[in-house]
Amino acid sequence: MTPLRLVIFGRQGAGKGTQSEMLADKYGVIHISTGDMLREALAEKEEIGLRAKEYLDAGELVPDGVMLEVIKNRFDHDDVVRNGFLLDGFPRTRVQAEGLLRITGIDVAINLEVPHAVVMERMLERKRSDDTPEAITARLDAYETKTLAAIAWLDAMGKVVTVDGVGEPDEVFDRLVEAIERRLDDPSVDDRP
Ligand code: AMP
Repeated sequence: MTPLRLVIFGRQGAGKGTQSEMLADKYGVIHISTGDMLREALAEKEEIGLRAKEYLDAGELVPDGVMLEVIKNRFDHDDVVRNGFLLDGFPRTRVQAEGLLRITGIDVAINLEVPHAVVMERMLERKRSDDTPEAITARLDAYETKTLAAIAWLDAMGKVVTVDGVGEPDEVFDRLVEAIERRLDDPSVDDRP
């Protein structure tokens, strides 16, 4: 089988991280979380991490040029091509979405939909070091103003399936798998790239 190339969108607090791990495991693809990559780069005091720090702290988007560099470097390693991938946290803007499709084709972009009000409440309950109320608000605002435009652009290319992300993790996972498989089986959808 050709390796699967997936993207997952979802607001912070939508359960995207958990679902991504489960999906990567099920399909044997490499889970690429740009948020994790940046946090690790910062912990290791790598240049890219230091450049991203102020944005991470503020909950703002790291500039597109920096992110495209991060993704290009990651895709230079052919494990991604051999095994397939699940991109989590990238693209987050239309410029990034366009850049991604210049680097690789994708099979399905999943839009894990959990309403703004629901994730806001969840996020204020959970605590990560960069989860100040201001950073949470900034991240959700960036999603509405920038990331929805990336989703709309990929949707116009016929790549997006929207899945209801409200519910128990196992139930949401079953919905995701069903939606992915339905999309892959759809003969009206062109395959590659
Ligand atoms: P995440 O773990 O996906 O919520 O990402 C944490 C933070 O990393 C975000 O709030 C941004 O500051 C930064 N980040 C991660 N991915 C991207 C991206 N694709 N574009 C811009 N900033 C990003």
